[in-house]
Amino acid sequence: MKAWRLHGLGDHRLDEVPMPKAAGHDVLIRIKVIQPSVTDTSVMSGDVFTEATKWIPKWLAEGKPIQRGHEYCGEIVETGQNVTSVKVGDRVCSAGGKTYCGSCAMCLSGRHSECLSPLIMGREVPGAFAEYMCLPEWGVVRIPQGPTDNEVAALQPLSPCIASVRSAEIKIGDTVVVLGQGAVGLGILQAARLAGAGLLVAVARRPENLELAKKFGATDTINTTQTDVVEEVKRLTNGDGADVVFDAAGGSPKYGLSGFETVRQALRMVRRGGKIIQSALLPGAVELDTVLMQRYGIRYQFPLLSDNECLKIAAIWVASGRIQIGPQITHVLHGLERLNEAIKITENKAKHHAVNPAQVVVLRLDGRVGPASPVPGGNHAGCGQHDEYEVPLAEGRDAVRQAPQLLTLRGRRGAALDAVAELAHADPGGGQQPETYENRAHRCNQADEHGHSPARAKQGAERVWPHDKH
Ligand SMILES: [Zn+2]
Repeated sequence: MKAWRLHGLGDHRLDEVPMPKAAGHDVLIRIKVIQPSVTDTSVMSGDVFTEATKWIPKWLAEGKPIQRGHEYCGEIVETGQNVTSVKVGDRVCSAGGKTYCGSCAMCLSGRHSECLSPLIMGREVPGAFAEYMCLPEWGVVRIPQGPTDNEVAALQPLSPCIASVRSAEIKIGDTVVVLGQGAVGLGILQAARLAGAGLLVAVARRPENLELAKKFGATDTINTTQTDVVEEVKRLTNGDGADVVFDAAGGSPKYGLSGFETVRQALRMVRRGGKIIQSALLPGAVELDTVLMQRYGIRYQFPLLSDNECLKIAAIWVASGRIQIGPQITHVLHGLERLNEAIKITENKAKHHAVNPAQVVVLRLDGRVGPASPVPGGNHAGCGQHDEYEVPLAEGRDAVRQAPQLLTLRGRRGAALDAVAELAHADPGGGQQPETYENRAHRCNQADEHGHSPARAKQGAERVWPHDKH
């Protein structure tokens, strides 16, 4: 199969690699749509400050190519003999760039997001920048019909947005400011709206992003190129400052992000006793005015780690139309070989007028892999960057809208997707259709009655990864 692998910083090649095999608790996933995260793009050029910067140069120096990618939509095509929670045909994505081991002390006590030996995509397991990838069954979340494949590929970044908003513990009516309106800022904005924010202020430099923020529920928008953001927030709050400020803008200025400036702004615009949630990845150590913070009881905190539960909530909100991510998917390229183009666009989204990372459709509508001639008239028609690709699942979206009520009746969050599945099975249009690709996609997006993520399952012992060769 074909896979993109990093051979050196900035040296990303499409290679022929061995096909992974699903054994034990593993599932083999055929990749349909991928998108490079901003972290992916900066890690690959050697500019980032995460734990990846520690091991990537070492691996590359040892001649071990790295296959990254964790934002994807895929379909399970093979399962190991011990897999119970998902099945062949399920449409899936993952909650983040790593999955838990299933066997350490944290995993065994149900604290999966704090796993002591997580499997990092691109390190312990080859990532999604390929035709196929293999993950433990608890590393995937089944996404029933509702969101399109493009939306599913963009779901992962919503998961930490939901973790951020949970961490903020917003109370109904709280004044919330979101600094930065990229994919993460827009996700936080919408989740904060659903969490009960009163005044909801979106801050950004690009007018097109502020337009989207307005559409997604911002009560006020501030363009930092025209207005002093701290003064404006003070004015909007009668001098008090905001209850909660999310920093979703900080990061390396090389990628159009704001460095540490937004952290300083957040400290000046939050109210006494208020909270700052640092959602954006900072480009290194940050200096904080701890005297001011202590005097005014300002809490500066990082969000809780996101997990499968956050992703399931994201899927429900997108499926039911309460969070929109479709409008921010502005660039869709066709064919796995175009990933480096997508990375270039994602590296500098402002220059390309992109909001979401640029997506790459790996699997064609006819079920084959490779480039196809563009079909005019898709969601993204009219922009030269966009190709065709939307799996027609509009009828599913209506069914999913009813899911939250069933969720309440069943009394637990995890039941919601099962409720969606029941609605999907009840759909008379879903049963007796010819086996076209579209129908297969429709059928595959219907979930079964099983639960998900066996908390205490052991990691498959017979895993075979291409990286084992190194
Ligand atoms: Zn673990």
